[in-house]
Amino acid sequence: MKKKIRKPVIPRTAQETTRHAIMKLLGEGSVSANDISVAVHLPEKEVSSHLEHIRRSLHATGAVLEIAPAECRSCGFVFAKRERLTPPGKCPVCRSEAINDPLFSIRGGQEHTPD
Ligand SMILES: [Zn+2]
Repeated sequence: MKKKIRKPVIPRTAQETTRHAIMKLLGEGSVSANDISVAVHLPEKEVSSHLEHIRRSLHATGAVLEIAPAECRSCGFVFAKRERLTPPGKCPVCRSEAINDPLFSIRGGQEHTPD
């Protein structure tokens, strides 16, 4: 006899609520993964996976998840080509760890259509 193992995961409704909260933050202005993490009480790792999902689902609405790339605070190096949503740990140029986090925001979509 097989027993179904119940995973101790957040129920779907809570997931949806979290995603909604994150999207609201993104719609209000540019925020870092850390800002989101604090606001929705989730580890940054989980915030990143939500962001990935949001980025993909936005395509259908015509909106875009804009990413302002991470930037080295010491030498100004911009991590422009970085595809991952998690912040880099170290500057490849000067090896400084003082990196400004990438900032996320939502642009476009059907939310602000007049009438
Ligand atoms: Zn640097």
